[in-house]
Amino acid sequence: MSDRKTQLVAAVDAVRAASRVCIAVQRALVDADTLEKKDKSPVTVADFASQAIVCAKLAQALPGARIVGEEDATELRAAEQATLRAAVVEKVGGELGRAASADEVLDWIDLGNAKADGGSYWTLDPIDGTKGFLRGEQYAVALALIEDGEVVLGVLGCPNLPAAGGGAGALFTAIAGEGAQTLALAGTGASGAPVRVAAVARAADARFCESVESGHSNQGESARIAELLGITAEPYRIDSQCKYAAVARGDASIYLRMPTKKDYREKIWDHAAGKLVVECAGGRVSDANGDALDFGRGATLERNRGVVATAAAIHDEVVDAVRRVRAEAAS
Ligand code: AMP
Ligand code: MG
Repeated sequence: MSDRKTQLVAAVDAVRAASRVCIAVQRALVDADTLEKKDKSPVTVADFASQAIVCAKLAQALPGARIVGEEDATELRAAEQATLRAAVVEKVGGELGRAASADEVLDWIDLGNAKADGGSYWTLDPIDGTKGFLRGEQYAVALALIEDGEVVLGVLGCPNLPAAGGGAGALFTAIAGEGAQTLALAGTGASGAPVRVAAVARAADARFCESVESGHSNQGESARIAELLGITAEPYRIDSQCKYAAVARGDASIYLRMPTKKDYREKIWDHAAGKLVVECAGGRVSDANGDALDFGRGATLERNRGVVATAAAIHDEVVDAVRRVRAEAAS
């Protein structure tokens, strides 16, 4: 197997395993009827367990892999977190099929502490869209490989998106220079069916997606952009990098993420996997100024503001409208 294929197989295996734990935790949450309540501990357990599993599996399959994960175990090591820690250890051991010690699990989580400082590293969002997870809705496990500032491999696990062949749970994979693929999350193997963006010639015919959370994307601005483009379809609001998956497979043709705060910088783990999946499916991805997303600036997209991901044919038209609306808003 080529190196990339080995990496893909390892990443798919890791995302599937982490997703299984997230699915079980979310199901218990729904059954316990705790949705929308203030208790965020279930998502915390799943978040840590997901990162531990992905890091443990990558380290085993690809020795020496460096990982930049969203979480770290500092908080979980504290004496007063014994209950939370035990819950995480139990979930990880259950998935790996063997008892793991607390120290092992904490160390796996901290394998995700590598610095995003050039060269080759993975970036992981163990649960992207925690708000969606807590609402019983969409979230993603997102894993991507960055080499010299370029995203070269991406895997997105979307447990609550329907799979192409039916059933819950879709997985998306992409290798730079090759097409994107979709697989059943519950399946086996790392090769799936090709995914392509929808064939739209004009933005007016497109459906756009955006965050459910108005604090993460300026929905008023998106509505003005849609109006300017002549889009009449209602926005498709969906949490997490499932938005990139939606564009990649044609459920929507535009993903708008308009900045809400001047000083907010997008995190690499929130975009790396999704961006590559869309590009490899025939889409284009830029920021709100039309600039390429620059993954060579550390853990954040320091040089970018917002995200615009579309089917390639309508990207220029959409970015033009985004620029006009943002210029009006700034004047
Ligand atoms: P979404 O599911 O698209 O709403 O995105 C979830 C992600 O938004 C989380 O993983 C956060 O890292 C990120 N986020 C948090 N605050 C902001 C913000 N002010 N602007 C954009 N993204 C944010
Ligand atoms: Mg995230």
